[in-house]
Amino acid sequence: MYDVIIVGGSCAGLSAAMTARMRNMEVLVLYAGDGSMGKIKQMDNYPGMPNVSGEELLRIFRKQAEDLGVISKKQLVQKILPMGKSFSVLAENDLYEAKSIILALGIARVSPLTGEEELLGQGVSYCATCDGMFYRGKQMLVVAGGIEAVEEANYLSELGQVTYIIEKAHDTAALAPGIKVIKEKPLAIHSIDNMRMMLKTDQNEHEADGIFVLRPAVAMTQLLPEVIAQKGAVLADDNLMTNIPGVFAAGDILGAPWQAPKSVGDGNVAALAAASYLRTLK
Ligand SMILES: Cc1cc2nc3c(=O)[nH]c(=O)nc-3n(C[C@H](O)[C@H](O)[C@H](O)COP(=O)(O)OP(=O)(O)OC[C@H]3O[C@@H](n4cnc5c(N)ncnc54)[C@H](O)[C@@H]3O)c2cc1C
Repeated sequence: MYDVIIVGGSCAGLSAAMTARMRNMEVLVLYAGDGSMGKIKQMDNYPGMPNVSGEELLRIFRKQAEDLGVISKKQLVQKILPMGKSFSVLAENDLYEAKSIILALGIARVSPLTGEEELLGQGVSYCATCDGMFYRGKQMLVVAGGIEAVEEANYLSELGQVTYIIEKAHDTAALAPGIKVIKEKPLAIHSIDNMRMMLKTDQNEHEADGIFVLRPAVAMTQLLPEVIAQKGAVLADDNLMTNIPGVFAAGDILGAPWQAPKSVGDGNVAALAAASYLRTLK
């Protein structure tokens, strides 16, 4: 049981993790990638770090967090379940538990395809490692939302026949040779007689045994549907606690201004508030 699980390992999440460790909390950071920070070529408004790239700043943050005893794992979080006074967090094949949660996911850009959420677990999967084995020797479609999908599609191609449909442009040079790539816009998923799956694109329909939707993020409606958001931004009070007691938010997920120094400050506030919240549980 962790004191806090932080979802997101960029500037807001790592800042929260460092402050939480300073307050002696047991901290787990789960992150899918570098988020918006990874896209910054040069930043000139980060105090004390002129002309720094997002990648370099993250490298320094990660080292500092690790030195403070923060445990970080690169895993996509699929679901957070409130369990009374604690939370269960499902990340790929693993289930974790924590007394509090800090959401530091960045800007939520995920718009699920029509039918995707309804068919999750019934032919649609978000995790190649977890569900790939069910499709041994079968036909699979991968809806790829980022470069992270390449490695997972390569793994699936060792099990069966994979067709790769690019949802959001990214480099596919590292895809295994046997994978067929289709450049069509995915629109909707439906099942055929509860047996096979059908993906409708702007140009065609593609049939398969299973569809893997592999994006570096999960829609908030899927991750934690109980949390209240408005125009894509999670609502929180002055202490950055959301409408769910014990769930805090930090960084771009809270809406504008979308800025790195502000996100770092949010992480600090959310971690201190989580520490106060934990005291109320005792
Ligand atoms: C091109 C570009 C240039 C920019 N330039 C500047 C600048 O010059 N100055 C400035 O102040 N700001 C700049 N920004 C904005 C800045 O990058 C963001 O404000 C900042 O990165 C927000 O930090 P964050 O931690 O909230 O989110 P992000 O940096 O987006 O990180 C989100 C984290 O959450 C993780 N995540 C998301 N979903 C999941 C999930 N389901 N499971 C696990 N992990 C998940 C991601 O992998 C990532 O680790 C720029 C942004 C871009 C895109």
